Amino acid sequence: MTRYDVVVIGAGLGGLTAGAILAREGRKVLVIERSNSVGGAASSYKVGDLFVEGSLHETSDPRDPRDPKHDLLTRAGVLDKVTWSPSETFYEVRGGPVGSPLVLPASFDGARAALIARFPDCRDGIDQLMREIEHGTAEAERTLSLAQKLNALFGTNEAVKCALAANLAYYHDDPATLLWSHFATSQSQYLRSGPCYVNGGSQRLSSALARAIKTAGSDAMLRRAVSHVSPGADGTHTITHTAKDGSDPRTIEAACVLSNAAPEALAGLLPADAAARLRTHYAPMSASISLFALTLGLSRPPREVGFTSYSTQLLPSWMTRLADYTHGTTLMADEPGERMPPMAVVDYSAIDSGVPAPPHVLSFFGADRLSNWDSSDMDRYREKRARWQTAIVRYLDGQYPGLADAVVASSFNTALSTRQYLNAPEGAVYGFAPTVAQADAARSPQTPIEGLYLSSAYANAGGYTGVIQAGAACADMILQSAR
Ligand SMILES: Cc1cc2nc3c(=O)[nH]c(=O)nc-3n(C[C@H](O)[C@H](O)[C@H](O)COP(=O)(O)OP(=O)(O)OC[C@H]3O[C@@H](n4cnc5c(N)ncnc54)[C@H](O)[C@@H]3O)c2cc1C
Repeated sequence: MTRYDVVVIGAGLGGLTAGAILAREGRKVLVIERSNSVGGAASSYKVGDLFVEGSLHETSDPRDPRDPKHDLLTRAGVLDKVTWSPSETFYEVRGGPVGSPLVLPASFDGARAALIARFPDCRDGIDQLMREIEHGTAEAERTLSLAQKLNALFGTNEAVKCALAANLAYYHDDPATLLWSHFATSQSQYLRSGPCYVNGGSQRLSSALARAIKTAGSDAMLRRAVSHVSPGADGTHTITHTAKDGSDPRTIEAACVLSNAAPEALAGLLPADAAARLRTHYAPMSASISLFALTLGLSRPPREVGFTSYSTQLLPSWMTRLADYTHGTTLMADEPGERMPPMAVVDYSAIDSGVPAPPHVLSFFGADRLSNWDSSDMDRYREKRARWQTAIVRYLDGQYPGLADAVVASSFNTALSTRQYLNAPEGAVYGFAPTVAQADAARSPQTPIEGLYLSSAYANAGGYTGVIQAGAACADMILQSAR
């Protein structure tokens, strides 16, 4: 039986980062991925002529030595193996209580000045908030929600609150439960280092990590699903993996097993007693939101139908308070009506993104829940999804006249797609929800089962930065335990 130092279940960013660091430290690593390509959510692909970015809109620029990813991607051997395409704006927000477009430049000073110019009566509150975000003082405020923070500074001025938290779906969907310090830490990374995209698509980063693993003499295997993990009392784990249809089982051994798959998916691979221990350990934790993602291919550049920024946060007219944001998440449980959810839009042609065109790619995403979609009849699911797509395009055409006529290609992923493609229970995309209630719950690569670790969003936080940190922390835990 082939024996490895480390077997990684899943080739998402968390699994690949851990695998690359460990392989470059001389460990014999095997990454096993059930899909046809590496990357998990960090994948980009083609549907016909249409380029689809599976996830990435913005991450903080890792070329900045202050960015948490800088040293980690250097250790993984990939920082300079991809081209990072910066955006000068953090985001544009329009609609809802904000009304006409407001552009936040990607720097503390630029964002502060733009906010004060639009909301001069809120100067003191804006100054204080930006100072706290910039200097990291929010770290200590582990019991405060985003809504509590913004209400204390801005009272009932919903426009300034919506402008400041317009990109809520980067983290969560409810300002009343989102941990203020999580929001502040993440926003500060964007404003300090600037946002960027992986030129040519997130697949390039994932493929670079897989190449780093192979260059170091280890391996990443595709189209193989891990079906069983048996923890051994002597510290040797037995792992069975099969072809995607369950045929061709093969068994290998490893001293450590890293799960890039969610804890609940990992529990499904374990013997009953170990599964019960794992489930009990994570039972108090609830999963993050999911996201829907609609990609449209346009026959002409998006700027010709009115898109003016790389990233735009579109707030619907029914949204009059920041607290309304959360009501958008469950709209897709019903048939489309008057109300459309808040959405983030990315126009990849607004920066030097390397995204191929034509068709010119626009990506729209917003908070979603698995419970919005009934998977018991897939034909009915697809029909309902198509009706939502039609309604969203009609709504967007109202905001950007001419858009509907320019659409020549499309792809629509929902929370159900995420569950299916990523084997993600609940369709969660950010690991455990970053809420006040879960602020003190330990997020760690360590599981209650010896030799079994998490290397995913569930071990730290979601998003590229959180997941790359999780993968590196997992690798370090293994390297330290060996010393
Ligand atoms: C639409 C969308 C937009 C997003 N936008 C951004 C953004 O702009 N910026 C940002 O920072 N983040 C963004 N994110 C979030 C970010 O992409 C994720 O948080 C992150 O990529 C999750 O990485 P992961 O390694 O934890 O897990 P995943 O990417 O979910 O990877 C898990 C992998 O494990 C594999 N797997 C599961 N079970 C098995 C098994 N039994 N055997 C073998 N393999 C298995 C899966 O196939 C998958 O490849 C977005 C996500 C989505 C969906």
